[in-house]
Amino acid sequence: MLLAELAQVSLAVAATSARSRKTALLADLFRNAGPEDVPVVIPYLAGRLPQGRIGVGRRSLGDPVEPASGPTLTVTGVDAELTALAATSGPGSQALRRERLRALFAAATADEQRFLWALLTGEVRQGALDAVAADALAHAAGAPPADVRRAVMLAGSLQDVARVLLAEGPGALGAFRLTVGRPVQPMLAQSAASVGEALDRLGPCAVEEKLDGIRVQVHRDGDRIRAYTRALDDITDRLPELVTAVAALDARRFVLDGELIALGEGGRPRPFQETASRVGSRRDVAGAAAHVPVVPVFFDALLVDDEDLLDRPFADRHAALARLLPENLRVRRTLVADPDDTQARAAADAFLADTLERGHEGVVAKDLTAAYSAGRRGASWLKVKPVHTLDLVVLAVERGSGRRTGKLSNLHLGARRPDGTFAMLGKTFKGLTDALLDWQTEKLTELATDDDGYVVTVRPELVVEIAYDGLQRSTRYPAGVTLRFARVLRYREDKTAREADTVETVLSRQR
Ligand code: AMP
Repeated sequence: MLLAELAQVSLAVAATSARSRKTALLADLFRNAGPEDVPVVIPYLAGRLPQGRIGVGRRSLGDPVEPASGPTLTVTGVDAELTALAATSGPGSQALRRERLRALFAAATADEQRFLWALLTGEVRQGALDAVAADALAHAAGAPPADVRRAVMLAGSLQDVARVLLAEGPGALGAFRLTVGRPVQPMLAQSAASVGEALDRLGPCAVEEKLDGIRVQVHRDGDRIRAYTRALDDITDRLPELVTAVAALDARRFVLDGELIALGEGGRPRPFQETASRVGSRRDVAGAAAHVPVVPVFFDALLVDDEDLLDRPFADRHAALARLLPENLRVRRTLVADPDDTQARAAADAFLADTLERGHEGVVAKDLTAAYSAGRRGASWLKVKPVHTLDLVVLAVERGSGRRTGKLSNLHLGARRPDGTFAMLGKTFKGLTDALLDWQTEKLTELATDDDGYVVTVRPELVVEIAYDGLQRSTRYPAGVTLRFARVLRYREDKTAREADTVETVLSRQR
């Protein structure tokens, strides 16, 4: 496939807000793609390089390069060239990289150059494309969209499903099954403003405590126990105490979903940063486990023994969980059988108050009839947190002064628009500890694409959780609102920019 074709479709998809049009455009693209193109086409569409970051920024190219008159570059050719470029190291590599990059750009048409730039600097403007791409793939291959989405959840990646589907046709989808030892994409939650709103939207539901830890999916097949993060990374080796806890359970085969958390005195949660850095750390695992032990607390069962529970209602999955696990390994919950009953509503509110009292973050209300499905579609899980928080994307950062000279300090925060661009909502340098300031300085330096000496523009990739007191009208910012008393709670490295909150979500909080 020619890069020109991909570049054109990418532009056209970004330019339309109609989901059906996006799907049609992508379906055409997939029909023309060979199975060998898929591992490149899908990440490129989403604005990702399969190689990850390759350290190419605005300055790497030097002066503009005269574009080619006609398209000759193929997507697989460009991918091979970027792999070679990323591997260039050692003395003189800087000059060599520039030369290769200039040669690549000289072979690209003006449109292709624009696309490559956007790709290299992380600015390909796409909304949450994976769901649309899965539907488009279904159209292209003549397969039911729900089956494709399910396969993607089970495979953990759209790419794997696309390759098989385009090579072998819809019949091959049946091969994607829940397999112990292969992680699946986790089910996610949407927000509700209050417990009352969550009950109204869900009907009969379970209201569970929301623990402020790290998501974990645990697979056991006999003596083989593996643990995966929300991004499906294998973290088993960092968590000996989790393996011990799981090995002590009665059943030999299962897949469980839950949260890892470090608890302190009287079972109160320790600060989130402690859990996060413990789970993130590969060094001196035994020492770290002794110092900050973490415990798993589960809330879902995807498979027990040989029974795949994914399509079963949550009530059944939870019953299986309760048979398998003692109470202290399950999240606390209360059931709301009739959400119209005043007493039941009061009890659910009291459950939230009690959960907060015990130091947790809030609650998640869950539809008892819903199947386990990845992504936010359907909204059968609704989280309720009392503080206003938003997950926003860092668009740029200002150089600090005074005590913060030499640091990157004041963050420019953006919410997602449907077309994949970001609307800046405001700035903040509040809430940053010295450790966070050091961390963000390092991280944002890596992500920098431009620097005018004061404002450093970065690839819009880093998600930060912001607390704020309310919204305020503003003519200065593009969404017409800005945040009052915005402060940094934490970085959300477990989330990608595509999972950040949207302008629509922000505006809906005005009411
Ligand atoms: P958020 O990351 O703020 O979108 O909230 C969703 C996350 O809350 C999930 O990915 C889990 O890591 C976490 N969580 C904590 N307790 C629960 C629970 N009882 N049910 C589902 N998710 C939970």
